[in-house]
Amino acid sequence: MFAYRPPLKDIQFVLADMFQAASVLQHYPEFAEIDQDLMQQVIEEAGRYASEILFPLNAVGDAEGCRLENGQVKTPAGFASAYHQFCEAGWPALACDPEYGGQGLPHTLNSVLYEMLNATNLAWTMFPGLLHGAYSCIHRYATDDIKRTYLPKIVSGEWLATMCLTEPHAGSDLGLLRTKAIPNDDGSYRITGTKIFISGGDQDITENIVHLVLARLPDAPAGSKGISLFVVPKIFPEGERAGQRNSLICTGLEHKMGIHGSPTCTMQFDDATGWLVGEPHRGLAAMFVMMNSARLQVGIGGVGIAETAYQNSLAYANERIQSRAVNRPESRKNEPADPIVMHPAIQRLLMSQRAWVEGGRMLTYYSALLLDGAEHHPDPAQRKEMDEQLALLTPIIKAVMTDQGFAGASNAVQIYGGHGYVCETGIEQYMRDVRITMIYEGTNEIQAIDLLMRKILADKGHRLGQLLDTIDATLAANTDKAVSVAVTAVQKLTATLRDLTERVGQASLEHPVLPYHVASEMMRLTGHCILSWLWLKASQTATALRNNDPTFYDAKRHTADYYFTYILPETLQLAGVVETCLARAQTQGLQDFRGDLNVQ
Ligand SMILES: Cc1cc2nc3c(=O)[nH]c(=O)nc-3n(C[C@H](O)[C@H](O)[C@H](O)COP(=O)(O)OP(=O)(O)OC[C@H]3O[C@@H](n4cnc5c(N)ncnc54)[C@H](O)[C@@H]3O)c2cc1C
Repeated sequence: MFAYRPPLKDIQFVLADMFQAASVLQHYPEFAEIDQDLMQQVIEEAGRYASEILFPLNAVGDAEGCRLENGQVKTPAGFASAYHQFCEAGWPALACDPEYGGQGLPHTLNSVLYEMLNATNLAWTMFPGLLHGAYSCIHRYATDDIKRTYLPKIVSGEWLATMCLTEPHAGSDLGLLRTKAIPNDDGSYRITGTKIFISGGDQDITENIVHLVLARLPDAPAGSKGISLFVVPKIFPEGERAGQRNSLICTGLEHKMGIHGSPTCTMQFDDATGWLVGEPHRGLAAMFVMMNSARLQVGIGGVGIAETAYQNSLAYANERIQSRAVNRPESRKNEPADPIVMHPAIQRLLMSQRAWVEGGRMLTYYSALLLDGAEHHPDPAQRKEMDEQLALLTPIIKAVMTDQGFAGASNAVQIYGGHGYVCETGIEQYMRDVRITMIYEGTNEIQAIDLLMRKILADKGHRLGQLLDTIDATLAANTDKAVSVAVTAVQKLTATLRDLTERVGQASLEHPVLPYHVASEMMRLTGHCILSWLWLKASQTATALRNNDPTFYDAKRHTADYYFTYILPETLQLAGVVETCLARAQTQGLQDFRGDLNVQ
């Protein structure tokens, strides 16, 4: 039967054994009271909520989907009640400022929560998934009046929020958007335009919805430097029109591949009243706060979904009897066939899933700790450094972990064979649902370009260099002989990445198209540098703690070994592509394939 078991032991391994998260967090004055027991308690409670309340609704939401009736969206049975339980337990407020009713707990705990929510019900998680981004954006950029009106309702979860960016002709390129904002005499604005693909644009879960809308002022410069951000409530919260509806409506719902329980709405704004958030024409900068929060969350979701896919395909592989295994034990000599988990091909699929899930968990929790440090470290220089590191890691987490979320779900379907492709087993829903994560919050191609152009080449590789210095210093200090081969491989990889970054940067001056050809390879190479460093740390930690639980820690070391033996060599191919493109750029030049593509 399809199931989800919160991976509490592995979460504890990453947070407590590897990163000593509680003691790191205790150094920040706001988290002085945090200890391991408190963290464990919150994590166990989150696991209970996700597995007992959300997981049973996942298939229901998929089968039932959302409906639009007279301009009002109806969500699947049970979704609203699950959300109200979520709010009653205080989950939306977990990592929010106590000044606005938040619990003031670390983002690290919020990340664990969101891994489990995504693992059990991605469609439902889309509703509260945007709350934290909206909170951060308003908290940082809005006026005190707006903060006072909206933040307590967002923090408590009483009102949900949306992110209204996309228009029919403006997807990845938000500079093309046309929605207009005309100033009123009282300081508010009239917003008019059509937004598409808006998750949770309307729903029957909360009485009010806070839309964060990108639009252009009349004097706006063309392109992305002329976009402003507005808060536009569905129902006016105060003033003369308190309780009345704003002039905005959901005019359509998309039929789509997955996440059927999440309404993807076309929203029509007709002179809807909104208020400016942040400075005029600087809306994208403000919206990036929301998008970065959402990107981390989407990447964490990739890990969670891959976890559920792994758990279930492993259970299936242990039960499904098919073909004789080459290395069958003596005890099964007289059986006609063996569990498919005995076949090396299936073991490879499972170990790949496991290595990516556990590695992804290390990467996302490491980043969550950076986020806590970037906000709460007492030393401003440290805060800045952590913030910059996080900016570097965000596109990698979003793109690499969603690619692997899909790959993990696809591997799981493969393990189920034909029984995975048909609907009864439940695994195909995961593969359909997770596919969108590679597209929304900035497609994975856009993430790769953002990483290489804005986060690496724009500062001449400085930030990346600092990260690689940290990795190299840990490698040089290694004394564990068991991982010496892996250490050498990672040392080679960091040297390769430094070298390629330098050469791609140089070559791009003469061949500006080059980085766009190799951005995806450079992103995966950077991702592997960090993952391999984390896997070394995991392996060393497991060796040190082995006697406490030899079965668990040996499995961890073997998974690390699997990553280094079967997965890391992917970097040779990736570096090979970048090398070849560099060579081609300098000899015959890089091809523009458009003409060839259109040859029939
Ligand atoms: C289910 C769902 C929920 C969504 N939720 C929201 C939401 O809540 N709010 C919201 O505002 N939007 C939302 N979106 C929209 C989503 O963010 C966009 O679909 C996404 O940003 C891509 O835009 P697009 O679909 O127009 O594709 P395009 O921008 O048209 O891209 C098409 C392809 O071209 C590639 N491409 C485009 N530009 C470049 C480039 N410069 N270099 C290389 N490749 C490029 C893309 O990577 C992609 O592969 C949602 C979409 C879906 C399907």
